Amino acid sequence: MATQRIIDFLATRRPDGPCLVVDLDVVADNFRAFERALPDSRIYYAIKANPAPEILRMLAKMGSSFDAASVAEVEMAMNAGAPASRISFGNTIKKERDIARAYQLGVRLFAVDCVEEVEKIARVAAGSRVFCRVLTDGAGAEWPLSRKFGCVPVMAVDVLRRAHALGLEAYGVSFHVGSQQTDLAAWDRALGDARQVFAALAEEGIVLRMVNLGGGFPTRYLRDVPAAEAYGQAIFDALRKHFGNAIPETIIEPGRGMVGNAGVIKSEVVLISKKADNDNVRWVFLDIGKFGGLAETMDEAIRYPLVTRHDGDATAPCVLAGPTCDSADVLYEKTPYPLPLSLTIGDEVLIEGTGAYTTTYSAVAFNGFEPLRSYVI
Ligand SMILES: *Cc1c(COP(=O)(O)O)cnc(C)c1O
Repeated sequence: MATQRIIDFLATRRPDGPCLVVDLDVVADNFRAFERALPDSRIYYAIKANPAPEILRMLAKMGSSFDAASVAEVEMAMNAGAPASRISFGNTIKKERDIARAYQLGVRLFAVDCVEEVEKIARVAAGSRVFCRVLTDGAGAEWPLSRKFGCVPVMAVDVLRRAHALGLEAYGVSFHVGSQQTDLAAWDRALGDARQVFAALAEEGIVLRMVNLGGGFPTRYLRDVPAAEAYGQAIFDALRKHFGNAIPETIIEPGRGMVGNAGVIKSEVVLISKKADNDNVRWVFLDIGKFGGLAETMDEAIRYPLVTRHDGDATAPCVLAGPTCDSADVLYEKTPYPLPLSLTIGDEVLIEGTGAYTTTYSAVAFNGFEPLRSYVI
């Protein structure tokens, strides 16, 4: 949230326009909390959540591995000091020439979810390790990742069998239980599916070694979320339940849970108005909206905590919107946001929990607004 370091930075630097400020101390604390909660898992930070070089450099130094979604992200991790052996190319949708490029850079771990992708990898990344992503329903997640990635467990068996036949190492199974997942049982359901794939291939003499438990670890927005230890315990219990004494290697890929609570966006009220004299809902327009980095307010999925200097005064419901000339640029309307009646044009509004999935979603110059600036301190 808004740590003293962030508050001091904003007070002394007074940057003009909306910007994100990330406190590296909080990221370091989160990394250590994941290490403590899941001591037997390797941590692959999901770069797409926030690829700021300062964050990647610090995590690389702390021993983190990295989940990359593209060749550009592979290069970002390497430039931050991570060896290729600590990078997973975790996107299941890759051009063959990008697989070849990652392989040239030394990457040997790739995600797949179909035979067609396995064949690309076999052609240009011989001998690599592959893991197959299985579908999850995303139930319990505030930002579900739906049906775009993964296949049913029965098909994962075919995919990994094909990988083995083509000389790749059929290494394991992955899943993602959906981002901002607050239901601890989600991992249990997915691990049950992973177990089926392990068992079916073992019967054919193909021994998988790894389960990639994905991301999904939540950050605190308006409601409390279980702590990392609770996730660690639930995952450990589920591993025991499904794999008994033969617990496989595991990796986790936290994105939001690593950086979400480390960042705060400073914004400013541009306008407060009504649509009619007798409206009881005010419209509050900020200098940042869906296209400036707050894309996860789509369908009002992620509800950020807001801090103003008037907190504690009487509040009334507001529609909150961004500054662009696009009617989609409304953050909260179905569930209006209570804001102080004393809030006025020009006031600063801090948007907390914005360290993940904000700068990376910010448009380059939609409506002439510059991309979200970021300071990592
Ligand atoms: C986005 C992503 C993650 C990170 O998910 P969070 O919910 O932010 O932790 C992890 N793994 C993969 C493959 C992803 O695509």
